[in-house]
Amino acid sequence: MILILLGPPGAGKGTQAKRLAEERGLVQLSTGDMLRAAAAAGSELGRKAKVTMERGDLVSDDIIIAMIGERMEQPDCRKGAILDGFPRSLAQAEALDAMLAATGRGVDRVVEIKVDDEALVTRIAGRLTCAKCGSGYHDTFRRTKVEGVCDSCGGREFTRRADDIEATVRARLKVYNTQTAPLLPYYRQRGKLATVDGMGPMAAVEADIRAAVDGGKG
Ligand code: ADP
Ligand code: ADP
Ligand code: ZN
Repeated sequence: MILILLGPPGAGKGTQAKRLAEERGLVQLSTGDMLRAAAAAGSELGRKAKVTMERGDLVSDDIIIAMIGERMEQPDCRKGAILDGFPRSLAQAEALDAMLAATGRGVDRVVEIKVDDEALVTRIAGRLTCAKCGSGYHDTFRRTKVEGVCDSCGGREFTRRADDIEATVRARLKVYNTQTAPLLPYYRQRGKLATVDGMGPMAAVEADIRAAVDGGKG
């Protein structure tokens, strides 16, 4: 099954992709995580991407399509994948369709997670990640059970993204509305799109996504 979680920065794509991936035994593929890993490793691709990401712009389609294409050829993607943060432009959506068609596959479902702009800014401002295992937290909405200790791995170091500052968030929202939002009609026309309300608590959003994935089209 090829599933796409679509939504603006901070909508909860990563949070929900992790939950669903675990439940269904699928891999979560986050192009943002891949780019941050490349930046941390200091590769040429990573160094180039880092500058673009810190501005809040999209990394070029060529780079992204090559990176995800290579990743999707790995054996752990044979059962399917949950795509989180990809595609983000029409060119990427078309490339994905072509890539999947080459192996007789296609996108099964696209779930749009809808959240108000002001809530997005609050979510992003409070976002932090365990440096050791990558578990996601929030200063207010998802605190660790023990202050300063990761629930999953016991790690005590947390990171915040360089692009998670208000000025950059506003730029990223603009980029979403101009470059990524055209994917909504693209997938709607193909009968793949479902929209869920992402404003509720994480468990409620999770239940709605599960229903959208398992239910019929609509
Ligand atoms: P995205 O991957 O779409 O950018 P994340 O999954 O990283 O979004 O979520 C952004 C922040 O908001 C994280 O700190 C996360 O813990 C928090 N968050 C996710 N879903 C919800 C929710 N339904 N309600 C409140 N906070 C949420
Ligand atoms: P979020 O959804 O929380 O904004 P991501 O981690 O998905 O964050 O992406 C962070 C940044 O990485 C984006 O602002 C962009 O610069 C880059 N990026 C991630 N995925 C893509 C993509 N599919 N196409 C172009 N750029 C991307
Ligand atoms: Zn951890």
